[in-house]
Parts: sequence; structure tokens; C-alpha cells
Amino acid sequence: MPEGPEIRRAADRIGKALVGKVVEGGNWPFPSLQQAESLILGHEVLSVTSRAKAMLIRFSSGYTMYSHNQLYGRWTVHLKATDPRSNRSLRAEFMTDKHAVRLWSATDIVLLPTPEENGHPFLARLGPDVLDESISKDDLLNHLKSKGIWRKKGATLMLDQRSFAGLGNYLRSEILHLAGVHPDDRPCDQDEATLERWASCIKSVTVQAYEHGGITVDLDTAEASKARGEPRRMWRHAVFCRNDRPCLTCGDLVVRVRYGGRRLDYCPTCQPARRGS
Ligand SMILES: [Zn+2]
Repeated sequence: MPEGPEIRRAADRIGKALVGKVVEGGNWPFPSLQQAESLILGHEVLSVTSRAKAMLIRFSSGYTMYSHNQLYGRWTVHLKATDPRSNRSLRAEFMTDKHAVRLWSATDIVLLPTPEENGHPFLARLGPDVLDESISKDDLLNHLKSKGIWRKKGATLMLDQRSFAGLGNYLRSEILHLAGVHPDDRPCDQDEATLERWASCIKSVTVQAYEHGGITVDLDTAEASKARGEPRRMWRHAVFCRNDRPCLTCGDLVVRVRYGGRRLDYCPTCQPARRGS
């Protein structure tokens, strides 16, 4: 499932085709988009952004189209003249003078007045969005220390959108590893220096993944792993999908565990348990 960085990259791609353009045509066959002809058609696209895993397209009509792709939704961007040829169900189509942007298969789509965005049930429950430029490392540190977060396991916090919006499975393993936090440990088990490093890694690993297409290690490390013949799912990361292999930091074996069926890879040496110590 795509995580926050992948959704933000999709928003950038869609934004390049749509922002500043008037929607000159399109198709909105999805039931919740019945008002699209008056609220989207003929209006300018003001912005395209993401919050956690939701896409937000704002129009000059004062309305926003909210969509969440879950596991099956997909966005495409084509030149207007291109025949999209898809077996998927078309949900929304935006035609500008040059491009056709389409949303396929998604089922969680709604048009709402832009000032009421934050009241949307999904957006209202989100924690601070890690990719939001106005959210600083200090904000994330304070959030780690806040009630409702302080006594929760790292493995839980780094996946739950209500705790930190935009994180997901590969980011969880990578952030905990770089921060040196054991997945069962909680913020309250850490010293101040570790908490600061943890907050810093939440931001830096996610931004790095956004800027470099899901790569969470530095680019030299990725190149070195690639040169050893590792597949893409492995060379992109420090521990995720590197289970039963030597940790790139210390050489000890990376271990795979599961929380609620979702895999988590970590290094017991780099991420020692502090709970109760
Ligand atoms: Zn290690």
C-alpha cells in the first residue's frame, strides 16, 4: 500500500497537469460526484495536495474533491489525445487544454466545501502530517511526549494515522531503526536524546522517501547495495525487507517480526529494548 510519500508524489504529478488550469471537460460517473458539473466543470484548479493517504483537489468554486485510494484506487495522467485503455472503472476525469487526469476504481470520494475539509471524518482524526512543511521536528518531539502517545509502542505509533499521519509499513521499520528504538518500546521508555533523534528521524526518513522515490537510505548506501546485486525492494532500505541479512550498520542479523499481520524488520543490536531497563 502506498504511504504518505508516494501519495504526495502522485499529488505533485497530478498538480503539474492541473494546477492553474480550468477544467474544460470531464466525466464524473461516481454517485458522490453528481454536483461536479456545477462545482468542477469550468472552474480553475487551485491546488492539489495530500494529507496522509488522502488526495485533495481544490477548485475555484470553493469546493474540494477528497479521495482516498485505499488498496485499489489509481490515478493516471495522460495527454488529452491519448486513449487511456483501462479495464478499471472510471470515477472522475478532468480535462484541461492539454491533459486528461483520471481517477480509477477508488470508492472513497466526496466533494465538500473547502473550508469544511478538516471536518471530514478521516481528516478530522489524523495526527500531525509528517510531510507538512509547517510541522517541525520540535512539533513531532512534543507530540511524542503528548498524552495518548507517550505510553504507546513504537510499532503502533509509527503506523497509526491518528498518531502520525502519512507513515506506513516501510517507513515504520526504517524510522525505528535509524532512531535506535526497539519496536516494543514506548516514548516514555526513552531518554531525551533518543526522543529527539526519534522525532528527527520521523521527519527526515519520510522527507527522504518523498524526495527520492521511496529510498530511505542515503543514495551512496543504496548504490552500494545495488552493486551487490540486491533487488529494488531491498536496496532502497536499511532494514525493511532485509530480514535474515547483516544489518548495514552493525553486521548483526536483521530480524522480522509481525504486529497485527504487518511485517516489521529491525536490528536487535542497533535497537536494544530499553523498556524496564
Ligand atoms: Zn544493527
